[in-house]
Amino acid sequence: MAEAVGNFVAGAWRRSAKVIENRNPSDTADLIGHYAQAEPGDLDDALAAAEAAQRVWAERGPQPRHDVLMAIGQALMDRSAEIGRLLSREEGKPLAEGVGEVYRAGQFFTWFAAEALRQPGDWVESVRPGVEIDVRREPVGTVAIVSPWNFPVATPAWKIAPALAFGNAVIWKPANLTPASAVALTEIIAAQDLPKGLFNLVMGAGSSIGQRLVESPMVDAISFTGSVDVGRGVAAAAVANMTKVQLEMGSKNPLVVMDDADLDLAVSVAVNAAFGGTGQKCTAASRLIVHAAVHDAFVEKLVAATKALVVGHALDEGTQIGPVVSEAQLKADLDYIAAGLAEGAELLCGGERLERATQGYFMAPAVFAGTTAAMRVNREEMFAPVTCVQKVASYDEALGVANGTPFGLTAGIMTRSLARAAHFKRHSKSGCVMVNLPTAGTDYHVPFGGRGASSFGPREQGRYAVEFYTAVKTSYVAPGSP
Ligand code: NDP
Repeated sequence: MAEAVGNFVAGAWRRSAKVIENRNPSDTADLIGHYAQAEPGDLDDALAAAEAAQRVWAERGPQPRHDVLMAIGQALMDRSAEIGRLLSREEGKPLAEGVGEVYRAGQFFTWFAAEALRQPGDWVESVRPGVEIDVRREPVGTVAIVSPWNFPVATPAWKIAPALAFGNAVIWKPANLTPASAVALTEIIAAQDLPKGLFNLVMGAGSSIGQRLVESPMVDAISFTGSVDVGRGVAAAAVANMTKVQLEMGSKNPLVVMDDADLDLAVSVAVNAAFGGTGQKCTAASRLIVHAAVHDAFVEKLVAATKALVVGHALDEGTQIGPVVSEAQLKADLDYIAAGLAEGAELLCGGERLERATQGYFMAPAVFAGTTAAMRVNREEMFAPVTCVQKVASYDEALGVANGTPFGLTAGIMTRSLARAAHFKRHSKSGCVMVNLPTAGTDYHVPFGGRGASSFGPREQGRYAVEFYTAVKTSYVAPGSP
């Protein structure tokens, strides 16, 4: 067996007695490598090193933070083809999406490089004559970052970049399904001029090393992206220590198709939003809420477009939909197909496992029609290449259905009416609203997040990120202080 790739702890790569295998979901015969699983002692060392390194980093001021972030961002963009290929190989998204993700990760770093120089703060006139007040933002300290497998480079990038930009140390626990991407990003960060221990990678199972990390009283803030159930546990662990916490979780994003929509555009937007990334996106459109007047025509075009999608090996040219990420995910997806059928939904296409030249977790993208809001397939996040059409009689009904789940991440409407679009933007209970655009696909310089069960705590990304990664301090100085 080739030597396992280690964890990056206190400024050095470290082996571990426990390792896992990482295999390509497009071809399970393709072994990507073996990866160390951090022991409790590794985590304890990382936490101690982070605490010391953070003080040094904070003292260095904004210029080195800017320079380091620029260098990381540039390296990611320069190497997006190579690292994107590795990402697609281990996660299963088509190559163009993998390369695009790594490039985007680079953009997060260069954007936050500039933010490192912004140094927000206020000088405020006191109500007491002569007293001077300033309000400044300081680093929070050590930030624990726990990330999922579906965007294994971009999600950590949009957390690590602001953490470092605002003077914090980082302990990163990536998803165990995508360790190669985590190591590639860590190698770039480790090559920078950072205080030893400022950035640490601890790979391992969420239920063991992840749980220990979020329970640690040495952690000052936790940024988590993942499922609602795990997020709930992370929040409970954070509250026990009064640790600052930010959670981005599940979703059930609606795309409303109105009677005045451009139907061809609506179909291409729906297909992109429902099946991009094999439907394994927190922003995926898994509920298509369609006005009765255009329902049949829309569904006919949607099914034709879905059947035309090319499902295959993520690295093959021409592949539009890669495999789902794992055997367990495929089983869960097929179980949802069975659940939909059992509840009376009509399966118009897809929903079965596909055989390809290589042994992988391929599934035909599925469209359910005749669904109701009460069905599990319309209430639970599936994280699958499955979308469900619900027929509605009016815009008001569509809005009610769109807002009718506990989630609220993204929501979209397809319409030619500016008045309807404006009404939907105002009344959608979601964190991001898209008009005539896919529910998936967001920019990197503006806030991202949701409401209800989708998000908890301050927003991520853009200038709003400063809220989570800094602590506010208000200082008063008496007049004539020597
Ligand atoms: P999980 O919640 O299973 O895992 C997310 C991360 O948490 C992984 O690193 C996992 O480790 C870790 N983890 C698991 N258990 C614990 C624990 N007890 N304590 C600490 N950490 C733990 O989600 P998935 O990886 O399956 O990702 C899919 C989910 O992510 C979906 O629900 C999706 O909606 C959500 N998501 C949300 C986004 C958003 O911005 N709202 C964006 C992208 C995804 P490991 O996997 O190694 O066990």
